[in-house]
Amino acid sequence: MAESEKSSALSALSTESRAFPPSEEFASQANATADWYDRADSDREGFWAEQADRLHWTKKWDTVLDWEPPFAKWFVGGELNVAYNCADRHVEAGNGDRVAIHWEGEPGDSRTITYADLQREVSKTANALTELGVGKGDRVAIQLPMIPEAVFSMLACARLGALHSVVFGGFSPGALKARIEDAEAKVLITSDGQYRRGKPAPMKENTDEAVEGTSIEKVLVVKRTETDVPWTEGRDVWWHDAVDGASDQHTPESFDSEHPLFILYTSGTTGKPKGILHTSGGYLTQSAYTHNVVFDHKPGESVYWCTADIGWVTGHTYIVYGPLANGATQVIYEGTPNTPHEGRHWEIVDKYKVSIYYTAPTLIRTFMKWGEDIPAKYDLSSLKVLGTVGEPINPEAWMWFREKIGKDNCPIVDTWWQTETGSQMIAPLPGVTATKPGSAMRALPGISATVVDDTGTPVGNGEGGYLVLDKPWPSMLRGIWGDTERYKDTYWSRFAEQGYYFAGDGAKYDDDGAIWLLGRVDDVMNISGHRISTTEVESALVSHPTVAEAAVVGASDETTGQGIVAFVILRGSASKDEAKGEEAIKALRDHVSKEIGPIAKPRQILVVEELPKTRSGKIMRRLLRDVAENRDVGDVSTLADSSVMDLISSGMSESKED
Ligand code: ATP
Ligand code: MG
Repeated sequence: MAESEKSSALSALSTESRAFPPSEEFASQANATADWYDRADSDREGFWAEQADRLHWTKKWDTVLDWEPPFAKWFVGGELNVAYNCADRHVEAGNGDRVAIHWEGEPGDSRTITYADLQREVSKTANALTELGVGKGDRVAIQLPMIPEAVFSMLACARLGALHSVVFGGFSPGALKARIEDAEAKVLITSDGQYRRGKPAPMKENTDEAVEGTSIEKVLVVKRTETDVPWTEGRDVWWHDAVDGASDQHTPESFDSEHPLFILYTSGTTGKPKGILHTSGGYLTQSAYTHNVVFDHKPGESVYWCTADIGWVTGHTYIVYGPLANGATQVIYEGTPNTPHEGRHWEIVDKYKVSIYYTAPTLIRTFMKWGEDIPAKYDLSSLKVLGTVGEPINPEAWMWFREKIGKDNCPIVDTWWQTETGSQMIAPLPGVTATKPGSAMRALPGISATVVDDTGTPVGNGEGGYLVLDKPWPSMLRGIWGDTERYKDTYWSRFAEQGYYFAGDGAKYDDDGAIWLLGRVDDVMNISGHRISTTEVESALVSHPTVAEAAVVGASDETTGQGIVAFVILRGSASKDEAKGEEAIKALRDHVSKEIGPIAKPRQILVVEELPKTRSGKIMRRLLRDVAENRDVGDVSTLADSSVMDLISSGMSESKED
């Protein structure tokens, strides 16, 4: 390929030679084995039919897949009740006494919920919602802290065939209102308040503002913080009045495999959130399958903990639907990782003997910043598998996770997927894959993903391009709520000719054909005609011993088109003043140049205390681009802490370019 054509795809700059195969002991007991890839390839639909048998169907499907691009139907003609699959059937199988949820409150209170408890609580909630007028096809908005009632509410909706739309507890009244209006929700489930860093913060005051003038008829309120709340008679109902008094008997109805299960708005890293629609049978099948094989989950033995919030897709698929469909015993923690101290997570791992720990790279980098002596104080020997999701994980953060948390003894599964894909798509099988630090490795058995160039042609090993999904999968989104055109436009128009789903992410194959995610294509930088991903430059920065976290953007530059501007957070141990000095900055720039090449050497490096992140912890580079190009900062409504931007902007104007 000519150099000019090549530059239209994405440069692949870094190389990684470390690889970690599972121990023989781990491999020999793993749920999935190497032959699954071929088996799935040779009979894809047969493979998925086998996975669907993980569930209880009240009516078996007639056809595995009906694919009229870009519209898929999975397990056509089949019927099931999703909530029955997540609670009742485990009780009927004799596992009613098994713990479903070890719940740990932020102030230190805790609750133990068995599968029999779960079945009763979900039944009661379903009866209460029926009383409030909720039925099949209705939409229920949920804004709750990480308390068991959030799980009961979601499953109660599923049980009734109502769609839930869960909105993250930290979102503003405006954000909640927009989501209520878009989905035309009938009922809102919320709480009086929520614990935030050790203190009760108001919740209902905000949700009251959000429901004003919307389609919401009833507001169901859980008492969590004992905060005084404003009350609207006739509209507001206490959970303890409506649910606690309801019957704990409820007969689940069967719904079509394609019956809608939920709407979830994407995190809004790139712009206006989209209401992603998921349905029942295919979604639950792939959620249960991936939770079982990717985490090597053993029902009755594993103690599983996913640290995501229930307001994100990770909380939906890997706290509620996947684990509960699999009869898992899991930890749910209400609070922030540094309340009341920075060892809280490790204390919880130790307390419940957690064996599977699934978290986000942003949190791992935070743990790195806090220092390795913190986890070192706890007994983490129960851990068997570690997982990450949400952003590319920098190889150094991966190594830190492996060494300081996994004690070199736990496979790490870096799982690539999206709100739209519903469940994991590209990830190692922990008992099979020799994992490489920073790579999601390859598509799971039954899933097909490719990296292509601008024309839709697959790129070769060692080359970068666009990540596409070229075959339908069971948990794929079924659309954007109320907007079919936007669905076609957003995901299916870029490679319409080939019929590929385009995810919006850049990726590359390494020399062995493993897939490396390179960040969003919207963030790609164009340096002297080379298209360079943010991920590789950031990982090069993080591989320097003084750096905990980095974000880079391309800012317009008279000579090179764009120049790389980097924002870095230093590790706790790095002495701030020294590491901020001119010498240190020069050393960092040279380090990047040495690691991945002079073309990627940042024009400017700024040491910052925080980076702008979404509520789900993802870096919002478009805001940093505004700063780097001296523009007014754009829409910050999905930002976790908007004051961060003021700090960074003022730091930018003080720093001088060299
Ligand atoms: P929006 O689509 O509204 O901008 P979002 O893309 O952040 O928001 P999510 O669906 O929560 O919303 O995130 C999916 C995205 O997260 C992926 O497209 C990818 O960019 C990133 N991602 C998730 N997991 C990984 C991973 N393991 N490696 C690399 N990137 C990942
Ligand atoms: Mg997205």
